[in-house]
Amino acid sequence: MRIGAPDQSPAGIAPAVTAFLKTPRMLIGGQSVDGEAGSFEVFDPANGQVLARVPEASEADVDRAVRAAAAAMQGPWGTMPGAARTGLMLKLADLIEEHGEELAQIETLENGKSIMMSRLIEVLSSAEYIRYMAGWATKIRGETLDVSIAIPPGTRYTAFTRKEPVGVVAAITPWNFPLNMAVWKIAPALAAGCTVVLKPAEETPLTALRLAELVREAGFPDGVVNVVTGGGAVGAALVAHPGVNKITFTGSTDTGIKIGTRAMQDVKPVTLELGGKAPMVMFDDMDLGLLGPATGIGIFLNTGQTCCAGARLFIQRGIYDEAVSVLKGIVSSLPIGPGMDPGNQINPLVSARHQAHVQAAIARGIDDGATPLLDLVAPESGYFVAPQLFEGAAPHCALMQEEVFGPVATITPFDTEDDVIAMANDVRYGLGASLWSRDINRLMRLLPRVQAGTVWINSHNIPDQNMPFGGFKQSGLGREHGSGALDNFLETKSVCVAYS
Ligand code: NAD
Repeated sequence: MRIGAPDQSPAGIAPAVTAFLKTPRMLIGGQSVDGEAGSFEVFDPANGQVLARVPEASEADVDRAVRAAAAAMQGPWGTMPGAARTGLMLKLADLIEEHGEELAQIETLENGKSIMMSRLIEVLSSAEYIRYMAGWATKIRGETLDVSIAIPPGTRYTAFTRKEPVGVVAAITPWNFPLNMAVWKIAPALAAGCTVVLKPAEETPLTALRLAELVREAGFPDGVVNVVTGGGAVGAALVAHPGVNKITFTGSTDTGIKIGTRAMQDVKPVTLELGGKAPMVMFDDMDLGLLGPATGIGIFLNTGQTCCAGARLFIQRGIYDEAVSVLKGIVSSLPIGPGMDPGNQINPLVSARHQAHVQAAIARGIDDGATPLLDLVAPESGYFVAPQLFEGAAPHCALMQEEVFGPVATITPFDTEDDVIAMANDVRYGLGASLWSRDINRLMRLLPRVQAGTVWINSHNIPDQNMPFGGFKQSGLGREHGSGALDNFLETKSVCVAYS
């Protein structure tokens, strides 16, 4: 069912969703399979009820998936022209749209997020992302090189480079944008001609498993895409598997460090998209009318569970009191409730564990001396946490330094450009940041001083498939999206040709 054709069943849940949730299966070598290690429960964050039981992969399952992906590199996929790969990817994008409402509902049920977000970001922007990457499959190119080799005398040379798929890719993804993150990994890997074993987050494996069914339906050869489910141990088995040629990971910095360390033992290339603690820097001359999108999108999009969320606001003294008062009003008016109701902008957090983590971060902030500005109430059933803004957080307290990844932000006044740049950069992260001002000279002057992979001007937290995305400092290694996205999945081979 396409998005925009609402289902009429009483609970609002499409019959196809109910049917899928009964027996979700992994995809290994083109076969739909259960997990050798049993199964685990996935919960609906809106009510804490069990939503589905999902296969738990064993090490042997991981091994089979990697072998299937390696075998697929040697099969028809390995020699398939780029245009044919494009065709398969476009078919997959069409299928995602065709099953859009179903995927959106599964996403909201497993993750808790607003159904509007699931429709627009998880589904429609994932389909667009695949189409964008499908276009690069026919544009892979090397270079011709002049060389100066002088031996043996009389021999002449010419050289060129070939770009070749790196091989089997292990893709490990987090729970905050489950379908989107899976697609961000799979699409450029397929465009480059690689095969993939995807391990989605254990909290939200369901849309990846439904995506696997659509991959089969699109007609990809067996083993080109495999999906295994389970916890961190399944991811670790994948990272350590000798048959994996490349690792691409999105998740927390702590897990990223473990994965990167393990990958280096085998000298495997690794791309890491990690955590963030983004600053939003608001100057006296900003358009205060932008505080609405700054709050709704910049800070509280996905209930603050975004890696670029503007978790640290810095507001210049001249507008400080007025801006804080407006922000408090906006946040207090955000409707809180289950994601299946599109009117709700603050939804449950992904899991009971994460709810406890966010609640603990709020309590610690208060213990450390920060002042909470809001007194909002969250629904009791489900994994809700009411949004909170803090003033007076000390620069090096946990609230200012550690990722909360929930509906929580600090607000700090500043006087000068130098002061605020020093504070904005004073974290181990460097993923996103934003500057809010009408003064182009100020903005251009400050841009090079902001340590972040993406700097938004008068906006925040909106990535695009054509904009390279990744982190400075401990926010990651490498860039996704854009014209360079396929480079993560290609090896460069120099070819030197001697002739007389
Ligand atoms: P996480 O690091 O706990 O888990 C991410 C994935 O890694 C999961 O699939 C998990 O099962 C797996 N994993 C855990 N331990 C592993 C191990 N030792 N070896 C291999 N795999 C392992 O992260 P999370 O809590 O699921 O996601 C939230 C985090 O993701 C936040 O820190 C957020 O900032 C980050 N994130 C970053 C980006 C980005 O593009 N930079 C985007 C979204 C989320």
